[in-house]
Amino acid sequence: MSETYDLVIIGGGPGGYNCAIRAGQLGLKVACVEMRGTLGGTCLNVGCIPSKALLHASELYEAAGKDFAGLGIKTGGLSLDLDAMLAQKDEAVDGLTKGIEFLFKKNGVDYVRGRGRIAGAGKVEVTSDDGTQTLDARHIVIATGSEVTPLPGVEIDEKRVVSSTGALSLAKVPEHLVLIGAGVIGLELGSVWRRLGAKVTVVEYLDRILPGMDTELAKTAKRIFAKQGMDFHLSTKVTGVDTSSADSLKVTLEPSAGGEATTIEADTVLVCIGRRPYTEGLGLENVGIEADGRGVIANDHGKTSAENVWVLGDCTTGPMLAHKAEDEGVAVAERIAGKAGHVNYDVIPGVVYTAPEIASVGLTEDELKASGRAYKKGKFPFQANSRARTSHTTDGFVKILADAETDEILGAHMIGATVGEMIGEICLAMEFRAASEDVARTCHPHPSLSEAVRQAAMGVEGWTMQA
Ligand code: FAD
Ligand code: NAD
Repeated sequence: MSETYDLVIIGGGPGGYNCAIRAGQLGLKVACVEMRGTLGGTCLNVGCIPSKALLHASELYEAAGKDFAGLGIKTGGLSLDLDAMLAQKDEAVDGLTKGIEFLFKKNGVDYVRGRGRIAGAGKVEVTSDDGTQTLDARHIVIATGSEVTPLPGVEIDEKRVVSSTGALSLAKVPEHLVLIGAGVIGLELGSVWRRLGAKVTVVEYLDRILPGMDTELAKTAKRIFAKQGMDFHLSTKVTGVDTSSADSLKVTLEPSAGGEATTIEADTVLVCIGRRPYTEGLGLENVGIEADGRGVIANDHGKTSAENVWVLGDCTTGPMLAHKAEDEGVAVAERIAGKAGHVNYDVIPGVVYTAPEIASVGLTEDELKASGRAYKKGKFPFQANSRARTSHTTDGFVKILADAETDEILGAHMIGATVGEMIGEICLAMEFRAASEDVARTCHPHPSLSEAVRQAAMGVEGWTMQA
């Protein structure tokens, strides 16, 4: 008879693999079932990691062509080797996915290759080319992640009409790339291909980009991206993409509110209108779990409605972010081990890895205004930061929002170089429920971009000194 696992996790993405590692550390007998052929999920294989590898390389390519001369660096015959750029991205993915296999071995996690399905209480059936086996489990963790949301009438072939997955491996730089959706994926991958030479047109249904992020931040971001050359069509929807011609795609646009249609020609279209939970065919009915219309499985501190079945990451509620999935994975493993695992949903940062980067944590100014809560605001422009001046990264600002009475930091919103790193300081401050004054009175290194955070924190109480 096969041994019973303490937990079997279905899905080996950031949620699943971190849950597995933490469970292994805590001495639990754990298996992680993954059908992709490699561990790491969307994030490592076709998400965070490959996109950041291309963002890094394309940013340097653009800088070499546009900025180096101004720094006194002469380059001759600059050219793009796209195959090599894609290969270094694949190497990063390969190294990191294999790293998870190593971490599984180190922590005693069984990696089971195949498609998992809940066959009943405490039973996970795994199907692979080698056949079907059933794993017995005291607890089952659903960590099956998400997939691309399709746009009705627009068929993705991953060659000319692509999702983010195809956009990470285009065989050549598009002449004209049309993005459907001005969210995180569109702005990141649109930046990559624009820097490599594509004309980029962004079609967004709403009247703004980056919905959900602080409006002041999104407005500044749009202005900067437009200056970089992205062409924005806001309050506009794509109603169809005609693929009948081998030479070009005809993209039909209409005002979101309805009205006259126009057509633009492109050679590549990226559909990036969001992602949806991937929970189909999981056997949820065998344990009485019902996903909502979008496939989202509800949770209460990680628990589903079925006993000893847990859910985390992109397939449950909350932002679809790797670090949120990771935190939930750790919390679920700890709770199964009898500890007090917990996720602080008020402190989940979000970063857009464009240039400049955009980073947010906590409440936005829009949310504070809507709630009527009295708040104070400090804001500091990178234009006035000495390190930004020396590194020619003066676009953007840091904004810190604090409770008007207690001075507790409620949110921070930044746009500028490396703000994706600097937001971590505010996450830690918020986790300790720090006041803005705590940050303002903390010595920061000079010259550094992080001084802008300190100056913005000073601004909350009206004593910004350097602007
Ligand atoms: P996933 O990573 O989707 O992993 C789920 C895994 O489960 C998959 O490997 C899947 O194959 C497997 N699976 C599904 N069903 C089964 C089954 N029945 N049996 C076996 N295995 C199964 N987030 C960030 O925080 N930062 C970023 O910079 C970032 N960049 C991104 C860029 C792109 C282009 C994309 C698409 C996403 C990006 N994200 C980013 C989002 C991030 O990838 C996800 O939030 C994260 O991967 C979610 O983790 P997860 O473990 O919940 O799911
Ligand atoms: P998103 O939700 O960030 O943006 C989708 C955009 O498409 C929105 O602005 C929305 O208004 C727009 N839209 C929706 N329907 C439309 C239509 N019919 N026509 C035109 N516009 C339309 O989604 P995404 O960019 O696809 O990213 C998916 C997920 O992946 C996000 O949840 C994000 O958190 C995650 N992700 C994160 C990162 C990161 O953290 N750096 C990077 C990439 C992806």
